[in-house]
Amino acid sequence: MSETSPKLRAELEGIPTYKPGKPAAAGGPVAYKLSSNENPYPPLPGVMESVTAAASNFNRYPDMACTGLMNELSERFGVPLSHLATGTGSVGVAQQLIQATSGPGDEVIYAWRSFEAYPIITQISGARSVPVPLTPGDVHDLDAMAEAITDRTRLIFVCNPNNPTGTVVRRAELERFLDRVPSDVLVVLDEAYREFIRDPEVPDGVELYRKRPNVCVLRTFSKAYGLAGLRVGFAIAHEPVAAALRKTAVPFGVSQLAQEAAIASLRAEDELLGRVGSLVCERTRVVDGLRAQGWTVPETQANFVWLRLGERTVAFAAACEEHGVVVRPFPGEGVRVTVGETEANDIFLKVAEAFHKEI
Ligand SMILES: *Cc1c(COP(=O)(O)O)cnc(C)c1O
Repeated sequence: MSETSPKLRAELEGIPTYKPGKPAAAGGPVAYKLSSNENPYPPLPGVMESVTAAASNFNRYPDMACTGLMNELSERFGVPLSHLATGTGSVGVAQQLIQATSGPGDEVIYAWRSFEAYPIITQISGARSVPVPLTPGDVHDLDAMAEAITDRTRLIFVCNPNNPTGTVVRRAELERFLDRVPSDVLVVLDEAYREFIRDPEVPDGVELYRKRPNVCVLRTFSKAYGLAGLRVGFAIAHEPVAAALRKTAVPFGVSQLAQEAAIASLRAEDELLGRVGSLVCERTRVVDGLRAQGWTVPETQANFVWLRLGERTVAFAAACEEHGVVVRPFPGEGVRVTVGETEANDIFLKVAEAFHKEI
């Protein structure tokens, strides 16, 4: 018997593991999870009904082509079916985009710090990550990103608003950047928090994609639509890219429950966007409250706020947890706090106030 273990690809060594937001502690007096940018509202009754009805058939495979959902999306966004692809969350679609474009020797550019899935899915592919530091104001440095392009660049992520800082890039600067990107390099506009944007100068990626064959827009049902647990997201891109996404999809990846929930959510969009509106009001209250306490908070257009706490990051996260809210620390850098239930936001504000006084 040989003692060697199966040969695994060298690229997998040292891949950072994806850290899910910590769950709220069980057994505490109150415990709120503000660590994963989830929607705090429970599923809408109508969406629940669709999912419950679909559940009676889960001995069957789902519709692999997601026909019903694709038709809804095509109508909702005014794009042809051939420009759409669905996947297991937009992270799933992002991974397919890398698989479809990049391999060993290729380069993938993204801002840093940004969404923690980017380095992971890039490294899995064997391509090289080219992280470009955010500006001192925690915004994408699009000039530096354009300068980082080489003839090995295959894909560039622009996370707008950026996770975890909440900051945005606006129309003029984004168009100037897109004008500088060679037409054979794919630009992925990750718009997971699109519905939370209130700044009119932030462009809708779907409008930018229409005239630019190298732009792909990623959207998800996980945040504004409240379906994080069901895993469904989608891409809007021109035909060659969308077709490549359909080729790289895991067969039957999007469950029928997820498909039905997504369709029902699109049909209940007014109600869901009303909830988003309430969360945006809470966001304003939280940001104003923090600033009144003396904190420097970058302008956020997402459902979370970013506190650059540096060395005090871990201590701050511990203080929050002690009082019943779980936040997302990035040790040595800062804390990302989801805008959640009013009571949870209140606790967070209280902890922040006490913590700021101690500094
Ligand atoms: C939450 C998030 C996603 C969406 O993830 P899903 O896989 O759709 O749940 C994508 N991009 C960013 C930047 C996110 O923060």
